[in-house]
Amino acid sequence: GSRGAHSAMKVLLVLACLVLAAVATPARPKTHLGSKVLRVVPETKDQLQHLQQLLLQGHYDFWKEPRALGSPVDIMGTVSRLPELIASLTNHGLRATVQIPDVGKVMESQARERMQRGSTRMDWADYHDYDVINAWMASLVTDYPDLCTLEAVGTSYEGRVMNLLTLGSGGADKPGIFIDGGIHAREWISPATVTYMVNELVTDSAFSDLLANVNFYVMPTINPDGYAYTFSDDRFWRKTRSETDSAFGCKGADPNRNWDFHWNEVGASSNPCSETYAGPHPFSEVEMRVVRDEITRLGSKIKVYLTFHSYSQLWMYPWGFTTDLPSDWQDLDDLAQNAVSALTSVHGTTYEIGSSTNTIYAAAGGSDDWAKGVSGVKYAYTVELRDQGNYGFLLPSNQIIPTGEETFEALKVVANFVKDTYSK
Ligand SMILES: [Zn+2]
Repeated sequence: GSRGAHSAMKVLLVLACLVLAAVATPARPKTHLGSKVLRVVPETKDQLQHLQQLLLQGHYDFWKEPRALGSPVDIMGTVSRLPELIASLTNHGLRATVQIPDVGKVMESQARERMQRGSTRMDWADYHDYDVINAWMASLVTDYPDLCTLEAVGTSYEGRVMNLLTLGSGGADKPGIFIDGGIHAREWISPATVTYMVNELVTDSAFSDLLANVNFYVMPTINPDGYAYTFSDDRFWRKTRSETDSAFGCKGADPNRNWDFHWNEVGASSNPCSETYAGPHPFSEVEMRVVRDEITRLGSKIKVYLTFHSYSQLWMYPWGFTTDLPSDWQDLDDLAQNAVSALTSVHGTTYEIGSSTNTIYAAAGGSDDWAKGVSGVKYAYTVELRDQGNYGFLLPSNQIIPTGEETFEALKVVANFVKDTYSK
């Protein structure tokens, strides 16, 4: 009767409210259950252009950006968007294979392992959040006061302190290498590898001669708000977390499209919802201004700029904004070849070497282009760490140490080159 209908109505209302609540407040953190990473290989110019357009539109999450004909592209699709994504690819004759069948499942099993380990102190058995990394850097200064100094050099958009760690015992006039990591928040292997290498340099006395001749200026996590967000809300956040004028509430700019050298000319988007949004103007992102100011302050002392990303196993040098090569590209290529052959000798990991545009598609506003083109750092490199897409951003934590070991061999080649060439 009416009583039954009334209570049925009540149940419906409650259900409707639950559904609304679920829509209004997305699960924290995002589970990504059912999301798939698809791989396509563009074989025609039309296909490559279609993929580049999809990237700029910002509807899908590109894990590996379109590079060149014959080079794989990885795209993550959520359950609700997968059919539309596959249709769009199929329309252009692109056959997708499944690279990761269920992203959420991989995240769950990695989260379980992390819980079992339960380590909140800095180590390289696991990935660590911003606060743990900062506390560890502070402890280095306490434990190795003759080798390390730590300076608060700025504050992120959301108010996180940004630190510059300096390693060296030969005085401020020695030639320097500037190293940053974590510019893209979800590329967790980057801060992990940078901190691994710092730890080796500081704790192994075999490097005291190197540290007496070369200074290392290190900022392991230069997108602190984005990095924190990958721990709290969305593992695959890439950009900064600044407000934009987006009507859809999209946040953040791509910090590696935000630097003021041929800004937003190519391979970047003016759409705030795109993963490659260049920002409203060059250096709109405070975190990039902080890094810029440190590189500028150090000036001609910096002989090498290294910025670590993942994934793809590439060792790249400018230019990113044009297919033209810098006039001294042969010098950059020689050093890269030596660094990579040392890297490969450790675990057999293979890297591709080349200028950014010839290795990946053209993209202006990158930090390496600015370091070379504006700040005059001769040897500017962007390194894309492991892997080649089996796990992508979800590189298992048991690969941190092997990645650190091999990348450190490459860094040693670069550092010894700086010592031999510039230290007097
Ligand atoms: Zn990156």
